Amino acid sequence: MRKQWTVKAVQVGSITLDRSAMTHFKGKGERIVVPIWSAAATDGEHKVVVDTGIRDIDFYKISEPGAGQTPDQICAAAIKKAVGWNPDEVDIVINTHLHCDHSGGNAAFKNAEFYVQKTEWEEAFNPIVPEAPFYDKLCYDKHAVNFFQWHFLEGDTEILPGLRVITTPGHTRGHQSAMFDTTKGVVCVSGDICNVAENVNGNLEPNIIIQVTKTYESFKRIRQFADFILPGHEPGIEDGSEDFIPVIDA
Ligand SMILES: [Zn+2]
Repeated sequence: MRKQWTVKAVQVGSITLDRSAMTHFKGKGERIVVPIWSAAATDGEHKVVVDTGIRDIDFYKISEPGAGQTPDQICAAAIKKAVGWNPDEVDIVINTHLHCDHSGGNAAFKNAEFYVQKTEWEEAFNPIVPEAPFYDKLCYDKHAVNFFQWHFLEGDTEILPGLRVITTPGHTRGHQSAMFDTTKGVVCVSGDICNVAENVNGNLEPNIIIQVTKTYESFKRIRQFADFILPGHEPGIEDGSEDFIPVIDA
């Protein structure tokens, strides 16, 4: 029998931006505040964190001037508040990708095994020009995580029973999404391949992507495999919620 997971949304900061930045020019001129999401998940045995928010709010403001973070939104503190886990108790950290608002809290989880796609790891140390402002080596280099705690994945991988990652390139070439079996169906923690649920449900790309065709293929994979989605910056989900946005079959 497959393991059933519980997945909780944990807010680790916020960004103020033009709505159209997430929905391909749709909503231009409308300023909105959106959360930065991590997720805390457990099967009753393992403690898993997906994405870890911001390391240094001032550094992050270089790429996202409207960003904000309260002290209790620093990932380790936010996880403690949401599910009561101390950082040393976390078994697994999955980075959907290594942008600085998704890997910034990695260093806090000293006993965790870290999972990232090999392609993402390689590009994070050698980003192309438009991606460079979003990478901050101090989130994932030897100062943050012992090299031997990293697992470099090459494609779709089962991490534990009921927990898989699938490749969802487009936002970055090595982007992946975490898929959890839950009693309600499969929950996809999508990182930034979907900033908001409208990307997958409306088949509408976010503005920050480097591969257009791959982005739409990734949406298709999510629709194929997931019933619910926690997108990286979806404003329609409450902090601490276990209820996510239904994925609409195309
Ligand atoms: Zn990103």
